[in-house]
Amino acid sequence: MKTIGLLGGMSWESTAVYYQLLNRMTRERLGGLHSAQCLVWSFDFAEIAFAQSRGDWQRAAGLMVGAARNLERGGADCLIICTNTMHKLAGDVQAAVDIPLIHIADATASAISSQGSLRPLLLATRYTMEQDFYKGHLACNHGIQAVVLEPVDRDEIHRIIYEELCQGAVKPSSRKIYLDIVARERARGADSVIFGCTEIGLLVSAEDVNCPVFDTTRLHAEAALEFAFRP
Ligand code: GLU
Repeated sequence: MKTIGLLGGMSWESTAVYYQLLNRMTRERLGGLHSAQCLVWSFDFAEIAFAQSRGDWQRAAGLMVGAARNLERGGADCLIICTNTMHKLAGDVQAAVDIPLIHIADATASAISSQGSLRPLLLATRYTMEQDFYKGHLACNHGIQAVVLEPVDRDEIHRIIYEELCQGAVKPSSRKIYLDIVARERARGADSVIFGCTEIGLLVSAEDVNCPVFDTTRLHAEAALEFAFRP
């Protein structure tokens, strides 16, 4: 089994889910006492979120690259960035190390393509919904056109991620807001939903939504394990 390096803590609430998924899925594959071989770098998310909010992506890139090199030096055979948003810096991270970076949008796109979904709704942070690094990656590399929300809904989805989910608050009122938005977009033609932020699965589950759901946290963890178990 290869060693998976996790660039985590963005937020730790979802990194904990990654850690649990990697270990549980390894036990499902190998049984008994088996668990995933991994290294976790966990940032102080306040520092990352501060850089994001100021648009100081250079500072954020410096932090990410430093941590990626530490993981590589520590023995990681691959890297996963445990957040969709920080894939804005995927190119900087990959350029700084010799081990492969497993991209969250590639893992997501494979699942979308194999389901045959054509109009997946992208629920994510404002950075991910508005900038091109994620939608563009899906479109250019995989021919997938994600549906993006109106500004007022984007603000609400983003606010709940940072003010609640990343701080461990899971509120039924916010679940309702998410589900109402999904229902409205379904009526407008979205045929599936991308949980394009790694904390969304803490609030809403696939069973809450009556269409295919692409939970990036799970899909990314699965892709990392595929790599780890590849001979
Ligand atoms: N974990 C989130 C994501 O998947 C948001 C927090 C962050 O900015 O990294 O985008």
